Amino acid sequence: MSGYVPGEQPPPGTQVIKLNTNENPYPPSPEALKVLRELEGELLRRYPDPMAGAFREAASQVLGVPADWILVGNGSDDILTMIIRACCEPGRGVVYPMPTYVLYRTLTQIQGAEFVEVPYQEDYTLPVEQLIEAQGAVTFVASPNSPSGTVASVEELEELATQISGVLAIDEAYVDFAETDALEVAKKYDNVIILRTLSKGYSLAGLRLGFGVANPALLEGLIKVKDSYNVDAVACAVGAAAIADQNYKNTNAQKIKVSRAQMADSLKQLGFHVLPSQANFLLAQSPSGNAESLYKSLKEQGILVRYFNQSHLTDKLRITVGTPEQNEALIKLLNKIITSQISKSVSPTVS
Ligand code: PMP
Repeated sequence: MSGYVPGEQPPPGTQVIKLNTNENPYPPSPEALKVLRELEGELLRRYPDPMAGAFREAASQVLGVPADWILVGNGSDDILTMIIRACCEPGRGVVYPMPTYVLYRTLTQIQGAEFVEVPYQEDYTLPVEQLIEAQGAVTFVASPNSPSGTVASVEELEELATQISGVLAIDEAYVDFAETDALEVAKKYDNVIILRTLSKGYSLAGLRLGFGVANPALLEGLIKVKDSYNVDAVACAVGAAAIADQNYKNTNAQKIKVSRAQMADSLKQLGFHVLPSQANFLLAQSPSGNAESLYKSLKEQGILVRYFNQSHLTDKLRITVGTPEQNEALIKLLNKIITSQISKSVSPTVS
């Protein structure tokens, strides 16, 4: 198997505009940072609460579900691992539409289970029928999906939930930037879990905190396979303060949505085809078709975006929405690169 390749993480202090791994450009909640500053050493001397109770309680208040409907993880990646560990083995595999979050495949391979990858339609409509036909032990749907930013409708998700015999895991890592969510689907169907994270909307990718929401019977199976102290005490305390500060998160998400619309318009003016995104990034198809050379030129000049050397994606860049200043710098540089490429290609040949 090939291991998961994370996006580049240049060392802190590197002069670079980082629009490659969908981090939030705004700082974490001041309430969360206050808790971090005031933490006592005693909290670290002891092992943490195995179920991260303080965070569970805070999330339960925000979501309006009982605390025992929430399972906390070391990032939502940790919840993905638990789902696959608990549900899959050789002969009981994983199904998901492609292109999507590559880690689903990596984790399935680690578990020695099979995976069925069903291609999305050209416009990223969910291939519901084929996903149902494959009857996985687990079916993953990222909504909003990465790298497309597109969402699945509640109707499509309900159809999947009722027509598959296994677990439906709806990965809502980017839900804070979307217009819809599937919490009600998880409340309604026994076989559905939704996954959320503090890495994106809450600007806490470095903290490593995510969670799943599902009925306690489903969670019981996942708890059996989780690492005993999977969430450290710092993440639990800081995350609890962050999720309680909904106003701060929503204000930043709103700013990002406004910037997303502006960035999409600017990219279209440069000739890119841009999918409608409900996440904090855009998937932009290069006018020349050569996304890799654009990625490299941007990188040489200090802007990191994500290029996937993968079927359906070689002509596209995934660009995280940054601050207005960062976005402007990106558009300016793209404009410069594209203009110079055009002038090179039309320069008259000397006879
Ligand atoms: N799901 C999707 C679709 C993602 O893009 C990511 C971020 N790479 C994750 C889950 C994992 O997020 P985290 O582990 O930081 O919570």
